[in-house]
Amino acid sequence: MPKYKLSILITAGPTVEAIDPVRYLTNHSSGKMGYALAKAAVDLGHKVILISGPTGLVPPRGCRVITVESARAMEQAVLKHFAKSQVIIKTAAVADYRPVSIHSQKIKKTGATLMLRLVRNPDILKQLGMRKRADQTLIGFAAETQKLIKNAEKKIYEKNLDWIVLNDVSRKDIGFGSDQNAVTLISKNGLRIAFAKQDKMKLANALLKIILSKKKANQKMVRL
Ligand code: C5P
Repeated sequence: MPKYKLSILITAGPTVEAIDPVRYLTNHSSGKMGYALAKAAVDLGHKVILISGPTGLVPPRGCRVITVESARAMEQAVLKHFAKSQVIIKTAAVADYRPVSIHSQKIKKTGATLMLRLVRNPDILKQLGMRKRADQTLIGFAAETQKLIKNAEKKIYEKNLDWIVLNDVSRKDIGFGSDQNAVTLISKNGLRIAFAKQDKMKLANALLKIILSKKKANQKMVRL
């Protein structure tokens, strides 16, 4: 039996919310950042559970993978494994809304417009923030297009996070689907560390090193 250092729970990818048997709502998350974090954590000798929405990616060797589709299925899986995890990284782009009901038959085209009623999905990360113990570290991701730092810092407070990784998703050259990303890591104590555009795997290693050591990184620090 290998001796693991920490139990790390990582969520990745989009969620998929069914509309009818052939249609669904989702988003542009590729899962690449979450899968890179899972690989980095395995390589560092940690026990990793990767809870993933649908992606076309091959999961890293050495981690346990649980695949889910909807936000509610992800919520169930995450809550099941939360208590035994010391570090929880919520990279997944969870759909904020789902259709009020799933049509059992394919919706036929009739009128010129079609109304789709949506209902809010549970905020998984917020629930984890409420349950978090002192020995657990909780990390969220924030995909923002405006007021980046302000919105990310608000999320740290509202969801009781230790760290948030801020992604500027208005930039076309990084983020969703790309192999590269540039982010700002923000701690609950106001530490901000900017990571220049780089390979997601390299970035995952750098982020994990800081989060797991909780030390100041040898990275350029910027007050934005
Ligand atoms: O509030 P917002 O969706 O911008 O927050 C993003 C963070 O919250 C991500 O870490 C994401 O995984 C998490 N989240 C969640 N459940 C939701 C919505 C977001 O866990 N319903």
